[in-house]
Amino acid sequence: MKVLVTGGLGYIGSHTCVELLQNNYEVVVIDNLSNSEVSVITRIETITHKKIIFYNGDLSNKSDIQQVFQQNEIDAVLHFAASKSVNESLKKPLKYYKNNISNMINLLEAMMEFNAKKFIFSSSAAVYGSTAQQPISELATTKAMNPYGETKVIGEDLLNDLYASDSEWSIVVLRYFNPIGAHESGLIGEHPNGTPNNLMPLITQVASKKRSLLYVFGNDYNTIDGTGVRDYIHVVDLAKGHVSAVQKLFSTHGLHTYNLGTGEGYSVLEIINTFEKVNNVNIHYEIVDRRAGDPAVCFANPAKAKEELDWSAERTLEDMCRDSWRWEKNLENRILTNKN
Ligand code: NAD
Ligand code: UDP
Repeated sequence: MKVLVTGGLGYIGSHTCVELLQNNYEVVVIDNLSNSEVSVITRIETITHKKIIFYNGDLSNKSDIQQVFQQNEIDAVLHFAASKSVNESLKKPLKYYKNNISNMINLLEAMMEFNAKKFIFSSSAAVYGSTAQQPISELATTKAMNPYGETKVIGEDLLNDLYASDSEWSIVVLRYFNPIGAHESGLIGEHPNGTPNNLMPLITQVASKKRSLLYVFGNDYNTIDGTGVRDYIHVVDLAKGHVSAVQKLFSTHGLHTYNLGTGEGYSVLEIINTFEKVNNVNIHYEIVDRRAGDPAVCFANPAKAKEELDWSAERTLEDMCRDSWRWEKNLENRILTNKN
């Protein structure tokens, strides 16, 4: 089985390539390196002792996509390539609608042209409005709070319409909760461009003294300790969810939507405390005002994925904190020694 992974050198895509290769899929990647490095290929190959086929291409360029399909018999596509910063999407909405919607349409058109109609879409818990009942099931109403989230809602709508027009499509929509952690080899992980917005990369940067302080956004929420609660999921568990989803694509038709989360919520202070404890480091933080648009609590009901994909997250918060820190330290070493 040969699968195409768009954005396969990015954070979640690279971990998914590893799991796919380890499950004997042939993996073709297209990535424009806008938020990743070519050295990720070698690192994926070092972990798996297998090769990937790489195209340095951009989904905005239809001929880049067509070339991949002309040169490979693609059985299924996992579509990770997108722009993903909520903050940036507020400042540059057109960039987000173009990359996350127009370029996805280019991809789907090429798939139609080459009669490859099995598709996995990286969606997000960002599609759920802040009023959703906790834990959130797939049946909750979608209502995005920002342009990034809106691109995921539109992406899902588009896929629903596509499937309604042609039932030969087999589509799995995966709504990720908060991926953190890194591969236990320390060879691949998250490599945010510029200043990160997400909690874990900020924690690891404070731990490594790249930044002096973590701002905790609000301690007056109605939660266990007043700080925001999220469903953090180890990126390797998330990647394994994709292997189950690919199997689902081949066993049924239809459009299926799944939450990929652990079903457990942890507060910001619980994350900080666990990180400090398992890694024996100190995280200097200060409580500041709430961040606009942040819901108090957001965690998944992952029962549907368990039942229909036979998948559930296995790694603990301790694993996530340990693996995130190992990756950060390795990243530091690579930068210091100027090695990839
Ligand atoms: P990432 O930025 O690490 O990876 C995306 C990859 O796609 C990068 O390697 C980038 O170079 C590539 N890319 C972007 N635009 C491209 C284009 N036009 N053509 C070719 N390649 C392109 O992001 P990630 O964290 O791995 O996220 C993967 C997917 O999961 C995204 O769709 C994102 O919206 C979604 N998602 C991420 C999170 C998260 O917290 N990381 C949460 C929910 C959903
Ligand atoms: N958070 C924080 N300080 C930061 C970044 C995030 O306190 O510098 C909090 C944020 O308010 C939320 C949690 O950490 O409660 C997770 O935020 P993140 O941006 O990682 O994910 P998302 O908001 O998309 O769930």
